[in-house]
Amino acid sequence: TSALYLVATPIGNLADITIRALHILMQVDGIACEDKRHSSALLNAYGISKPLYAVHEHNEKSASQHIINKLAQGERWAYISDAGSPGISDPGATLCDEVRQAGFLAIPLPGPCAVITAISASGEFLNNSDGSFQFLGFLPAKATQRDAMINFAVNSNVASFFYEAPHRIEATLKALAEKTAATQRIFIAKELTKIFEEITILKSDEITQWLNQVKSWQGEYVLGVEASPKKPVESEFDEATLAWIKAIDNE
Ligand code: SAM
Repeated sequence: TSALYLVATPIGNLADITIRALHILMQVDGIACEDKRHSSALLNAYGISKPLYAVHEHNEKSASQHIINKLAQGERWAYISDAGSPGISDPGATLCDEVRQAGFLAIPLPGPCAVITAISASGEFLNNSDGSFQFLGFLPAKATQRDAMINFAVNSNVASFFYEAPHRIEATLKALAEKTAATQRIFIAKELTKIFEEITILKSDEITQWLNQVKSWQGEYVLGVEASPKKPVESEFDEATLAWIKAIDNE
């Protein structure tokens, strides 16, 4: 039956694609993709040759109609973004909605996602938020808006992760170091699954020294900041009850 498959693709290492993803890409009638040239490299590597149709942030609505017309003819299509999971800081959301509204299935295939890959190697970074985290997408480009987002993350009671462009990474890490508590840790995952992969976890007060020895900022990054070390106020009990609890404890 006709359906749209949302297929996750590698974030660097071409081998990071599931058997199911390859199977679906080989079976579908066509593949919608963000950038035809970019996706051809992946598809050629696996000997997959299919009609490609460009769906990107500037034509997602009209392109969706094209895909829906194909599905209406009984075809099956896949959507792949340039890298990682469709719809995660990538186009795909509108296509997914439009396809469902037209009465067809939009079926997700699990696979690579930079933020999830980063978190899986973050060790005990989530410990002081009991495993909870929030993903904030790309940090805003403007410094004032970026700083507001950083403030929000730094004061959150869950760990926060975000994507940042390489040409802004140094300034962003400086801003992060300024706003975090000295013991609050910062997480930097660079070039995951690629040759120059590097994972660094530092306390905020170690960042300045670390920044000075970085030779090149080129590459792709996931950043994270630990949950705020400030404990939320325990509002569960009123003062009289707390006094009782204290008195009992002292007995
Ligand atoms: N859809 C993708 C996903 O599932 O992760 C994200 C696409 S978004 C346009 C690209 C951003 O993801 C990059 O600027 C970088 O912040 C992050 N990213 C992608 N690949 C990465 C990698 N191999 N290592 C570190 N970060 C990566």
